[in-house]
Amino acid sequence: MRGKHKILVVDDSRMNRMTFTDILQDSYEILEAENGEIALRVLEKQKDYIALIILDLMMPVMDGFQFLKEFKQKDVYGNIPVIVATTSTDIENECRCLELGVWDFIPKVFHPRIIRFRVFNAIDKSKIKVLEYDSLTGIYNQQKFFQRTRELLDSDNRKTYAFIHLSVERFMQMSSLYGPAEASRLLCALADAIRTGMKGWDQAAYGRVGNEEFGICMPYEHRADLLDIIRIIKKMAKDQPMDYYLEIAAGIYLIEDRGMEVPVIYDKASVAGRSGAGNYMEHEAFYTQEMDERLAREQRIINEMHQALEEEQFVVYFQPKYELDHFTPCGAEALVRWKQPDGSMISPGEFIPVFEKNGFIIQLDYYVWERVCRFIREEIDAGRDPAPISVNISRVNLYNPKFYETLVNLVSEYKIPLRYLHLELTESAFSDSGNMMMDAVEFLHHAGFTILMDDFGSGYSSLNTLKDIDMDVLKIDMKFLTRGQQENSRSGIILEAVISMAHSLGMLVITEGVEERGQVDFLKSLGCDYIQGYYFARPMPMEEYRELIRGEY
Ligand code: C2E
Ligand code: CA
Ligand code: CA
Repeated sequence: MRGKHKILVVDDSRMNRMTFTDILQDSYEILEAENGEIALRVLEKQKDYIALIILDLMMPVMDGFQFLKEFKQKDVYGNIPVIVATTSTDIENECRCLELGVWDFIPKVFHPRIIRFRVFNAIDKSKIKVLEYDSLTGIYNQQKFFQRTRELLDSDNRKTYAFIHLSVERFMQMSSLYGPAEASRLLCALADAIRTGMKGWDQAAYGRVGNEEFGICMPYEHRADLLDIIRIIKKMAKDQPMDYYLEIAAGIYLIEDRGMEVPVIYDKASVAGRSGAGNYMEHEAFYTQEMDERLAREQRIINEMHQALEEEQFVVYFQPKYELDHFTPCGAEALVRWKQPDGSMISPGEFIPVFEKNGFIIQLDYYVWERVCRFIREEIDAGRDPAPISVNISRVNLYNPKFYETLVNLVSEYKIPLRYLHLELTESAFSDSGNMMMDAVEFLHHAGFTILMDDFGSGYSSLNTLKDIDMDVLKIDMKFLTRGQQENSRSGIILEAVISMAHSLGMLVITEGVEERGQVDFLKSLGCDYIQGYYFARPMPMEEYRELIRGEY
């Protein structure tokens, strides 16, 4: 229950406002504004809750007509009925009002029963309209949109139709970080962009189909036309000040059988839309059969994840890192594994992207850090001075305002000197979180953590990252080099330059994914500092790692 409907009374006379309040306050909550300008401000904040506006025409600052003009321009207000309270019976004024969308008039003789009836009727009738439109964005809601889509497909025009699914990526995270008002603003911006983008397409329909999901059904001739439209809509939606990186995923289903049920068509487009989510290059995808299968796998992962965490099915493995001078272990990276009750393993490559999409990674990362802290504590308690362990910090954590606090508390709870815990942050996270990442690194540095830039060279702007962010260690993936042709190849030359540049900037370099002796020798010749890879050791259970290093201290 939302409580009472709200009515906005816009009148410069305090007496009149009080009279309306007296008459209506038993059944409604009354908001007041003394001119059009103030009313617009109230509306902007409360549009979802206001069921009716009672408007005076003659007011200072902004009169009723000007208010109606501005009010009418905003489609999102389209559902809110307006009743004009007048003293005059001037036909001209009445026509102007009706033209501007006014529903009804009440004479300012203040007959309480008449006022109550008119108010009740207007609100009651507006609900029929509300049933067709989404109250937040003012475009069709799912039901009406599906119905329009059905009509389009059943009509006997000979056009070929496509269904486009648009959704805001990482919406839940954005919304929990920036609050519901910002989330609403974002959804309205996207709805506005769709509305503008679809202007002139009379054989098309669009609507809001879910919380952060929108649909368009439109005729097309070439696939490229659809991609163009999507590009235009996205550009418009992103074209406004925002503190975060907005990505919109688009899925496209080309309708072959026009008799197919609309919800089924919608499903296919949404499957295609989700297939691109979490992929930092592709945000548009056409539906294919395999997508359905992949989605089913993802769904299974999501269904099982909470229980898996509770039952400690996630196991932390350590992959040792080696010093290149003496080939001695000098620490490890913690890598998570999912051991299912039937003994089978799911690779992090499969579940991490899913968890990054739904935010569960925040819990899983914490779980891993906690295990690592426990391990380090045990080593210290056993009188050893363990080599540092690095943990992966998902990019999603950078959007988590509690991240630092959580990490710092954890480390202090286990009384771990910070030199024992290193943090790996992936380079590609820098390009989408911008300043947020810089602040994060600065803070972590300030707190005393050692920071590794993971997957260096795989992002778009490695040099910028290097320029802007103060890291301690660069981590380069061996994939950077084309297999078998390292020396003198272009990538070999770049690698050599990167290593020497890192050293000049006071950073160390570790290469991961090293599998062959030849690579080891080559890296050594380039002055690389550390190495991690199957050539030396695969990721192993913690206890095995404990044994491995025991001999080393
Ligand atoms: P990453 O952080 O780049 O980790 C390196 C990956 O390379 C690991 O894959 C590791 O097992 C693998 N690897 C190591 N040496 C070699 C080698 O010589 N050859 C080849 N081909 N591969 C090698 P893994 O364990 O499957 O993890 C994949 C990715 O999943 C990781 O990439 C990381 O991004 C993510 N991940 C793993 N554990 C966690 C975690 O606890 N938290 C977060 N946020 N991400 C994790
Ligand atoms: Ca890593
Ligand atoms: Ca890596």
